[in-house]
Amino acid sequence: MSAIDGLPRLADVISKHGLDAKKSLGQNFLLDLNLTQKIARTAGPLNDMTVFEVGPGPGGLTRAILSLGAKKLIAVERDSRCLPAMEEVSGHYPGRLEVIEGDALKIDFASLAGDGPCCIIANLPYNVGTQLLINWLLLKDWPPFWQSLTLMFQREVGQRIVAKPGDNHYGRLGVLCGWRTEAHMAFDVPPQAFTPPPKVTSTVVHLTPRENPIPCDVKKLERVTEAAFGQRRKMLRQSLKSLGGEALLNKADIDPQRRAETLSVEEFCRLANLI
Ligand code: SAM
Repeated sequence: MSAIDGLPRLADVISKHGLDAKKSLGQNFLLDLNLTQKIARTAGPLNDMTVFEVGPGPGGLTRAILSLGAKKLIAVERDSRCLPAMEEVSGHYPGRLEVIEGDALKIDFASLAGDGPCCIIANLPYNVGTQLLINWLLLKDWPPFWQSLTLMFQREVGQRIVAKPGDNHYGRLGVLCGWRTEAHMAFDVPPQAFTPPPKVTSTVVHLTPRENPIPCDVKKLERVTEAAFGQRRKMLRQSLKSLGGEALLNKADIDPQRRAETLSVEEFCRLANLI
């Protein structure tokens, strides 16, 4: 029995339901409820919130989110083996947990969100994590349906998310995140906190949407960043040749000799708005 919520220990849940971790589903489970509560607390007060979780697995983070008072939790899980464990959690928190069996990449989260405040908290499967983040960043409606994203990634991905001009990790993901959100790394989680332990350190990233991002067509922004960072060591007059090269850069009042990693988000948006 866990002292935090009176439900069985997560190690017992795993052995009872035969939840041997599958690598193909990015299953690295967190069994320490103090740690999962620390992750959930990073999202801020949850009392009025509808929370989405991707990949509840045996339920460590799910239980933390519910124990911290989330009004409603909608969890999307691809592995049907986890559903009986979720039913036990649901019985402990009647009417507050809804589990959807399916692929989170195919779920229209916005349509499930309802009218109240909403956030997303997840220890993401590493193989679809970045794509899910990009989907939540590229929503047509902005500000989006979510008030915050609290997400666990491999540390290197976290560094790319929060990177600023001049950082080694600055690239397309950093521009996209910086354009529409304010992002910071909350804390690292070492490999040994997971079962089984992954090869690398993980990190929890917290993102909140900017109210008024610089107006910009996202497809064009993607074209510019793709071209610029596709040849990141080259000067922009070379890497952006196919989009207008030196003439485009002059029009945007950007020195054609600069390189992609030195450009601010505002400068990328200016270029996108000129092509
Ligand atoms: N939240 C649990 C925890 O912290 O212990 C498990 C996290 S584990 C890193 C990732 C979870 O995502 C697994 O339960 C896995 O089955 C699930 N998953 C993998 N791919 C998924 C997908 N495309 N859609 C929904 N869930 C997925």
